[in-house]
Amino acid sequence: MNTFEYLQPKSIDEAQNNFNEKSRLFAGGTDVLGLLKDHIESPEKLINLKNIPGLDKIEYVQGSGLKIGSMVKISAIAQHPLIREKYTVLAEAAESVASPQLRNVGTLGGNLCQRPRCWYFRGDFPCLRKDGGECFAVDGENKYHCIIGGEACYIVHPSDTAVALLALDAKIKISSNGKIKEVPVNDFFILPGDDILRENILQPGEVVTEVFIPEPKANMVSRYLKFTERGSWDFAIVSVAAVIEKSVNTIQNARIVWGGVAPKPWQDLEFNKNLQGLKISEDILKKVTSTLFEKAEPLEHNGYKVPLVKNLTKKILLQIA
Ligand SMILES: Cc1cc2nc3c(=O)[nH]c(=O)nc-3n(C[C@H](O)[C@H](O)[C@H](O)COP(=O)(O)OP(=O)(O)OC[C@H]3O[C@@H](n4cnc5c(N)ncnc54)[C@H](O)[C@@H]3O)c2cc1C
Ligand code: SF4
Repeated sequence: MNTFEYLQPKSIDEAQNNFNEKSRLFAGGTDVLGLLKDHIESPEKLINLKNIPGLDKIEYVQGSGLKIGSMVKISAIAQHPLIREKYTVLAEAAESVASPQLRNVGTLGGNLCQRPRCWYFRGDFPCLRKDGGECFAVDGENKYHCIIGGEACYIVHPSDTAVALLALDAKIKISSNGKIKEVPVNDFFILPGDDILRENILQPGEVVTEVFIPEPKANMVSRYLKFTERGSWDFAIVSVAAVIEKSVNTIQNARIVWGGVAPKPWQDLEFNKNLQGLKISEDILKKVTSTLFEKAEPLEHNGYKVPLVKNLTKKILLQIA
């Protein structure tokens, strides 16, 4: 690991005034320290956000929605009674992140902004995402890579909470040059075709301050299902978040989002629309999920993800019914 300066500013202004192109923001450090130790990033300055007041708050305003500060620990989200009751999909996604130790240290902001887990990226390979000359996954070990949305680079987005937040139609608040901008989750993350060196829209020095989730409708039910290779803590092979407004077992409105399949949390608006008005039954779900991911372009070793997506989607909708 290279030597670096370590700052603990007391305000966002102080953090941003001290930020330069060789700086990295530091929240829980569970990802950023791994990147330093593995020599994937070598910042000269780490700026820890933990002493900035207000970033670690969860606040619910009835009729409006829920605000979660970017420094809120993932374990606090998983355990929060109101989140468990009203935003179940987010509590379940948070609960599925890594291990209890990592959830106690890792923060929501860090979870959303963590870098991809592609083993070539994390290893000693000068790949395209590290400004190198090729993608080693294309003809290499690509069983965990994406099946859709990849272009020159085939990472999958690693955050479980991001998948749930997109399904909940959340917005991400970003402090930028003394102003706050609010961005829908879907616009926060970018594809390799937009910029192969970054995974989100953040510009140097911009800080995620908060996530806002609107008030759920009274008839909303939500769940998160995650398929992992090992029974213990692991990243998603495929995950699915479902936010459904329903009357008895008829779907009135649906927001389905998948993780583990694309470089960003993935949704299919046409599929969501087709679910409207459906009475949930095994036969109907078999039919509507049969055409899911028709546009997927799996690599040599990850075609198994397509039937997995269909089956997990069917399963979560049946659970909700
Ligand atoms: C063994 C292991 C297993 C894991 N399994 C899972 C899993 O199953 N699911 C899952 O979702 N994650 C998983 N993770 C990732 C883990 O959840 C993240 O490491 C953690 O959420 C990052 O949070 P942090 O606060 O420690 O971030 P840090 O490591 O401090 O930061 C991560 C990145 O985010 C940036 N950043 C942090 N906060 C902000 C902010 N407020 N504004 C702008 N940028 C910011 C940092 O600059 C850095 O680039 C795993 C990690 C490990 C090591
Ligand atoms: S998938 Fe992306 S991160 Fe992985 S080797 Fe290819 S270019 Fe690098």
